[in-house]
Amino acid sequence: MEILHVSAECYPMAKAGGLADVVGALPKYQCQLGHIAKVVTPMHRTKFLYDNEWETVHKGAFDMGPFHLTYTVIKEKSNKLGFDLYCVDISQLLDREKIYSYDDDTERYTAFQIAVTDWLSKWQHQPDVVHVHDHHAALIPFMMKYCYAYNRLRDIGTVLTIHNGQYQGAMGWDKQQYLPAYDTWQWGKLDWEKTINPLACGVKCVDKVTTVSPSYMEELTQQANGLEKLFQYERGKCRGIVNGIDTAVWDPATDSYISDNFSIKDVEEGKKLNKKKLCDDFGLDIGKPLFVFIGRLVGEKSAELLPQAISDAIYHMNGRMNFLILGSGDPGLEKQFESMRSSLVGYYNAQIGYNEKLAHQMYAGADFLLMPSRVEPCGLNQLYAMRYGTVPVVRNTGGLRDTVIDFGEPGGYGIRFDHASVWDITYSIHRGLELYNDKKHLTAIRKTMMKIDTSWEQSAAKYLELYNSLQ
Ligand code: ADP
Repeated sequence: MEILHVSAECYPMAKAGGLADVVGALPKYQCQLGHIAKVVTPMHRTKFLYDNEWETVHKGAFDMGPFHLTYTVIKEKSNKLGFDLYCVDISQLLDREKIYSYDDDTERYTAFQIAVTDWLSKWQHQPDVVHVHDHHAALIPFMMKYCYAYNRLRDIGTVLTIHNGQYQGAMGWDKQQYLPAYDTWQWGKLDWEKTINPLACGVKCVDKVTTVSPSYMEELTQQANGLEKLFQYERGKCRGIVNGIDTAVWDPATDSYISDNFSIKDVEEGKKLNKKKLCDDFGLDIGKPLFVFIGRLVGEKSAELLPQAISDAIYHMNGRMNFLILGSGDPGLEKQFESMRSSLVGYYNAQIGYNEKLAHQMYAGADFLLMPSRVEPCGLNQLYAMRYGTVPVVRNTGGLRDTVIDFGEPGGYGIRFDHASVWDITYSIHRGLELYNDKKHLTAIRKTMMKIDTSWEQSAAKYLELYNSLQ
């Protein structure tokens, strides 16, 4: 079977979060299972672009409203990632360093999607499935089915995976002129609440929708940033499939980003050495349990609750623990996390920004990973933490609910709490302290977590089953 994945991110070409990790791993596992999986992304000006050799495979042009745009599709030459990676370059629009948050994101992603559809319509053969990810690619199934120029693509199977339903790419109807000529009887497929809503359009037009965990699928029918009714209506074609992790990249025994490699056999010693490196670098105390947070500093992750929760924990529990934060996001929060450094020296430290190497070192060296997320479609951090013997402290939501069992329950290994509140977080930190002091139990939990199979094999097989149901 041949599958074309379309996504704004793909690790290691361009990464802002979990979407990149999934699109950088799932195709590799699909190829290992004997299928042909390919990925196409926008051509961002990243290190990976400059460090690798590329060949041009297609050049084309299209009109987008008043703009006449030319595009080039390039392919990474050496199949380094275990699948064919293609990038679309549209000069002045896509060739930028950051992935998101430009004023012209609507134009950028609409142009990207038209270019991909146009390129696909020129293929001599057709893939069996076009698998689009999130709103940045969700207009493609509409264009394949209803744009006259792309008529030959109308019967190809389509799947949309929703990694984050909060972001929908909505635009005013004035932007309709950007779309290639389409069957106007179908305008309702584009519309949601009087705007063109690419994510809603994707849900309406694709053959199957997946979300990255079963619990998140349920949650979307109740809370989906305005699309609840749509998910309730389309429930029949939706399915939750939990993400796996790329165990070749995320393996404490071989990870080249961490200071000291370790395995389940020497987990205590290995974690201690990695923790020492973190404590030396950030002025923390290796004798105390280390709680870390890695992620976007935004409301979805409950990041704004952490400053108060950290201060309360330090003051009320006599500074018996250390905290280390790595993240970027809301500028006000970034400042707050930064400024706390001077008042909590020896107890707390933070690095603001994106740092892949440090993230790996933190999964390896920390004792606990905090994830108080309000919304967590799947969450990968907790899976990485578990593979590195770090206990996840998570709110009971989405993929966190599906992947973490509280250590108070039979076979449990993590810490789970219900409310996104300062009190629930500090109480969970307190439970973490108790567990930390019970060394035998903690070691047993670490070993249990490291043995859990969170690899892509099972999930990749579920996607193939889904594709087969489209034939
Ligand atoms: P998201 O909602 O951000 O996609 P996920 O848990 O699905 O959350 O994935 C987050 C991914 O991004 C993980 O690989 C995590 O390690 C990484 N990450 C997030 N923030 C940072 C950061 N500041 N530095 C390094 N890696 C980060």
